[in-house]
Amino acid sequence: MPDIRIDLYSDTKTRPSAAMLAAMTSAPVGDEQTGEDPTTLALEERVADLLGKEAGLFMPSGTMCNEAALAVHCRPGDEVIADETSHIGGFESGGPAAIAGVMVRAVPGVRGVFSAEQAEGAIRLPMRHTPNSRLVSVEQTANLGGGTIWPLETLQSVAQMARSRDLGVHMDGARLMNAVIAAGVAARDYAATADSAWIDLSKGLGCPVGAVLAGSKDFITEAWRWKQRLGGAMRQSGVLAAAGLYALEHNVERLAEDHANAKLFADLVVDLPGIALDPATVETNIVVFDVAAANLGAPEIAERLAAASIRVGALGAATMRAVTHLDVDEAGVREAAAELAAILDA
Ligand SMILES: *Cc1c(COP(=O)(O)O)cnc(C)c1O
Repeated sequence: MPDIRIDLYSDTKTRPSAAMLAAMTSAPVGDEQTGEDPTTLALEERVADLLGKEAGLFMPSGTMCNEAALAVHCRPGDEVIADETSHIGGFESGGPAAIAGVMVRAVPGVRGVFSAEQAEGAIRLPMRHTPNSRLVSVEQTANLGGGTIWPLETLQSVAQMARSRDLGVHMDGARLMNAVIAAGVAARDYAATADSAWIDLSKGLGCPVGAVLAGSKDFITEAWRWKQRLGGAMRQSGVLAAAGLYALEHNVERLAEDHANAKLFADLVVDLPGIALDPATVETNIVVFDVAAANLGAPEIAERLAAASIRVGALGAATMRAVTHLDVDEAGVREAAAELAAILDA
């Protein structure tokens, strides 16, 4: 494995800063399973308030937030409507089926965003033969869509449709704060369109571990049972929650730098031979681009970049993804683009 200096593979590659580690080591802690960890309780309250929900629940990962939420919203045999690129559908090892017993009805959105009409069209006719359509799940921002922001009006129309048809709405807000900073819309306004929502602390916010799920008091009571059942209940979790509180204080506004760096990267590579990319689609910190017309396939390009200590992900044979974050600065982005140019020109 070559030593990677500039890692654009994912915003999960961030490492806790010295100041974050200091906050972690000085956090007051207790047993979270008996409600005695003050730092975890503070983080849960902070995120519940941020998202305008009654209660929050600290989880080891965003994946567990999704699995627990689906299990609370749905019964086995139910169907959840989600985009065809969704994390729940493609990147959770079949968890929705294995854990909640639900099927994912995949909707072909535009860069990860579907309309209320599309979602309504995916609702099953209520027949003995069909699964019960129970939930709509939206991803803010849409990861595989290229960090696409769901416009507030689209979320509102999906929510209105869902409520009128007796469906719940779940928001996978792994990168919700990226949307908040890029669009200037309050997190609680986005989250108001969903019954349950969560944010990831270990993506752009820079924590080593953790996510927080939020919803009504009753919803969180049930989600706690799933957290316990899945082995996600912790003990002195305040050590981890402290990183989350630190991140919400210090690492939210700065997401704007990641967005500027992603736009810069897109602008620097858009005219390179073999690259197909519309820079206007770069809305947050993710740049997905096509290399079908390039001299090399995506895995080979990724390999050559890695030989130069730079990592960009190959999502498929001809698709690549670069993700900016707090451990890559503007100089790093410029260097990565220059190396990509050298590889494609060769
Ligand atoms: C990363 C991610 C998840 C899962 O979060 P983890 O904390 O890695 O488990 C879920 N949804 C989306 C959109 C993600 O990007």
